Amino acid sequence: MPEIRRDPLSGRISLIAPERGQRPTDFSVSEEKVEPIRCPFCPGNEELTPPEVLRIPEEGPWRVRIVPNRYPALSPEAAPPAGGDEFFAAEAGLGHHEVIIETPEHQKSLERFSPEEVRLLFEAFRKRARGLLDQKRWAYLLFFKNRGRRAGASLSHSHSQLLALPFLPPLLERELRRAEEFYRRTRRCLLCELADREAHGPRLIHLSPHFVAFQAFAPRQPLETWILPRFHSPNFFSLPPEMEIDLARVLLRVLQLLEKTLPQFPYNLVFHLEPPSTPELPYFHWHLELIPSLTRVAGFEWGAESYIVPLRPEEAAAFLRDQNP
Ligand SMILES: [Zn+2]
Ligand SMILES: [Zn+2]
Ligand SMILES: [Zn+2]
Repeated sequence: MPEIRRDPLSGRISLIAPERGQRPTDFSVSEEKVEPIRCPFCPGNEELTPPEVLRIPEEGPWRVRIVPNRYPALSPEAAPPAGGDEFFAAEAGLGHHEVIIETPEHQKSLERFSPEEVRLLFEAFRKRARGLLDQKRWAYLLFFKNRGRRAGASLSHSHSQLLALPFLPPLLERELRRAEEFYRRTRRCLLCELADREAHGPRLIHLSPHFVAFQAFAPRQPLETWILPRFHSPNFFSLPPEMEIDLARVLLRVLQLLEKTLPQFPYNLVFHLEPPSTPELPYFHWHLELIPSLTRVAGFEWGAESYIVPLRPEEAAAFLRDQNP
């Protein structure tokens, strides 16, 4: 029977409307790979990208590079637009839009990284974030990854993106507001509460010493998976190294479980970090949301800003738990 669910964090509504007998493996999508003749992210082709803003290590062959996006959505030099007034609000598109080239190896996708290689990625995020936040101009940093054409990636060489924004994204605003309301009512951090509940619930897929991975209660897509710290962690960038490695392992485990279920699945991975202006909030902390691109966003989604999902998260979780080695 269909069910209407509300995501406890964002307040977003999803209709869970399972089709008879649909299994997680039925959502498999095949994509044709279009490869450029010269990949701009491969070693030796560095001159095909704008000059790098960060590289690890600083000397010798690089392992991670961060470069400005060739087609940026925002620019630190954007001029004020000609039109725009109080009614038709518009302002200069100020910001940074950068690409993190995650590996020198063209064929290596994220789920095949070692935990240390994933940790290196977090280190690159942290270093670049520090550089951008020192400018004291930006309201939010959004890290995300698009994998596969359906999920918006135009190149197959493993990479992610970073946007420094002059505004707080409305989705974050909503999550923060709801978390604050919850805190006022209960004196509990909403994300700690969620982590506690999911660690013992039917949507659990993996539990590590410090993190919990589970199927979202009200997902936007089949197999939408969240990763939360199991402790109050209001500042992503101050995670101790042993926890970073644990997080890397959990992320790899999740990607590998999904990859086993749906080989080459397209996805978006979003880091919802705390706003830099208010770290150490008692009621909110960072989390990862991994959203596979399996069903089409269509009329209902555009019209209602809500989602129809044809797979019960609890069934997806049971299936994924069975895939565990
Ligand atoms: Zn390449
Ligand atoms: Zn918390
Ligand atoms: Zn979130």
